[in-house]
Amino acid sequence: MTANAPITQDVMTLPRKLPEGGPVNIVGLTREELLAALVAAGTPERQAKMRAGQVWQWVYHWGVRDFAQMTNLAKDYRALLAEHFAIVLPEVVTRQISADGTRKYLIRIAGGHEVETVYIPEEGRGTLCVSSQVGCTLTCSFCHTGTQKLVRNLTAGEIVGQLMLVRDDLGEWPERGAPKDETRLVSNLVLMGMGEPLYNFENVRNAMKVVMDGEGLSLSRRRITLSTSGVVPEIARTAEEIGCQLAISFHATTDEVRDILVPINKRWNIRTLLDSLRDYPRLSNSERITFEYVMLDGVNDTDADARRLVKLISGIPSKINLIPFNEWPGAPYRRSTPERIAAFADIIYKAGYASPIRTPRGEDIMAACGQLKSATERARKSRAQIAAETGL
Ligand code: SAH
Ligand code: SF4
Repeated sequence: MTANAPITQDVMTLPRKLPEGGPVNIVGLTREELLAALVAAGTPERQAKMRAGQVWQWVYHWGVRDFAQMTNLAKDYRALLAEHFAIVLPEVVTRQISADGTRKYLIRIAGGHEVETVYIPEEGRGTLCVSSQVGCTLTCSFCHTGTQKLVRNLTAGEIVGQLMLVRDDLGEWPERGAPKDETRLVSNLVLMGMGEPLYNFENVRNAMKVVMDGEGLSLSRRRITLSTSGVVPEIARTAEEIGCQLAISFHATTDEVRDILVPINKRWNIRTLLDSLRDYPRLSNSERITFEYVMLDGVNDTDADARRLVKLISGIPSKINLIPFNEWPGAPYRRSTPERIAAFADIIYKAGYASPIRTPRGEDIMAACGQLKSATERARKSRAQIAAETGL
């Protein structure tokens, strides 16, 4: 382990390469943005609010992709829409299904870049883990995504699009005329895929506004969890402008160890981070904060760590989520033993906190937490490695 790991890596930022002057993609526009775009395309001002509501329902409630099917709009208005707008989602490149039912999608976004989205079915609910960036600029030493050097922020449309394409794949759009079905295959959304969501704040916020809107995808803010490594200046904004549940990638109980595991700690240390969290539940009207804690053999998993952890978070309504480390090729750590994890969990539990141990899902398809990294990036790296090894 090296204590002087940089906070951010030397990344290659990718251009967005969005088509210029072409049709405007409706997916990911907030209601206000959609309204403004409809007016710009020639919708009379006094009709715009109603038209935006109608289009919104077709796109986000019914999952319609073709303006011709928006049957409550006049034919020439549908033609106007088709001329100025498009309804496009990222493209699914591959879909893998794990033995446990977890689905991992590799999706391609504008410019040809790729990210991963994971769907995790459980008894009575289904969680979608979405990505917010291609790669990540941060360098957490236990995280596979943190080794990917290509980085670009996803647009709001590319974030919302992940939920929509998974609903396509699961066949989860309501059928017109059928009785209302309240069971949801995607009932929860977590921003825990590739990337640091708080380094792409506006797009993540706008995407969540679309996702939370009651007339469309309609996922309540209580069913959305944003996970951050600890970008302190954006935490109060998350409470005020998104209001979702918050998870913190905590992972260590001393600054010395956290500096190595989560190098952003060198900028905002444990004390500063915890101080920024005290107001979160009140500001966001949420009940408690989740502390994520990855269990690394011999690094952060002693009884003393468990005791320090409960002491540190005292006074903050919280729950602790223990994550057995998921290995990836070349990872510098090993997973703590089940006995160690159980002993750690017991100390936390006895201190009065819920301490669920996260069951790794989709490990056979490298879909578990921290294993995501796009296939093209893997291929690119390994070619470079082969070249190095063969001395070419
Ligand atoms: N960038 C954000 C969200 C994505 S990571 C963040 O860091 O919070 C989602 C969670 O998976 C984080 O808690 C992260 O620390 C954890 N994680 C990363 N790599 C992991 C690994 N190899 N095994 C287990 N959990 C890991
Ligand atoms: Fe980025 Fe989160 Fe991975 Fe850290 S754990 S490198 S912040 S994706």
